[in-house]
Amino acid sequence: MFTSIQGRSVIVTGSSKGIGRGVALRFGLAGCRVLVVSRNLPEAEKVCAEIVAAGGEALGLAADVTRQSDMQAMAQVAVESFGGIDILCANAGIFPAAKLGAMTEADFDLVLDTNLKGTFLSVSACLPALKARKAGRIILTSSITGPVTGYSGWSHYGASKAGQLGFMRTAAIELAPYGITVNAVLPGNIATEALSELGAEYVRKMEASVPMRRLGSCLDIANAALFFASDEAAYITGQSLIVDGGQILPESLAALEA
Ligand code: NAP
Repeated sequence: MFTSIQGRSVIVTGSSKGIGRGVALRFGLAGCRVLVVSRNLPEAEKVCAEIVAAGGEALGLAADVTRQSDMQAMAQVAVESFGGIDILCANAGIFPAAKLGAMTEADFDLVLDTNLKGTFLSVSACLPALKARKAGRIILTSSITGPVTGYSGWSHYGASKAGQLGFMRTAAIELAPYGITVNAVLPGNIATEALSELGAEYVRKMEASVPMRRLGSCLDIANAALFFASDEAAYITGQSLIVDGGQILPESLAALEA
């Protein structure tokens, strides 16, 4: 149905596991050349092997989104290996919980540095190559937490995820003359290893609070990212797409009673 994006050069930060892995696999299946980025190279290379086994092309890279020099090196590797950058998925993110009162300045800085400054650094590093394409795509992984909802323990995380959307809106204006779109996917609770680590009770309660009665899959998020990357989405910029099975809709628990 959509124009093929086969052969496009895609960077996915934070793609050794979880949502990023799902996004990298999805773009790999669509025939893109995927740079799989995380701080842990062996883990990134495992995802590359999965993409290659499925008939795609991928390269792993160890890089930390909080370091400007790493992000510049990441862009350079994509340009040298794949001939440019068509699509940047700024996905790397962390969500350690800490309640106000117990949250330290270091806790706050780490989350903001990774989730928000990491978005800025990855976008900035890829800009020259994206501008050269005249049809670049930037897709941010934000969250419902922060932009739409709150959750105890995640005030720093919520601020970082809402901050990504503030960043996006001005970036979209500044980059529109270059044909670059900047959009964000806002996942609800997605079944990842990291989410499982929050405990079976957390997962059970979350499933019960979603109208579709299941957590989202990494593929659900990857498909939204793929849409924003498509030629057909060329006139959509500065927008956010919630992918949450209806999680933000109930106004009370009573609204979920059958
Ligand atoms: P995850 O499974 O923990 O994966 C996080 C990925 O980011 C890993 O590949 C990790 O690899 C990488 N990473 C972490 N810090 C990094 C850094 N400083 N530099 C480079 N890579 C880094 O997490 P996830 O659940 O898939 O979350 C991915 C994104 O989705 C995040 O932005 C998160 O906020 C968002 N999100 C997730 C959910 C959910 O339900 N899971 C919901 C809403 C939004 P290394 O540790 O090897 O670097």
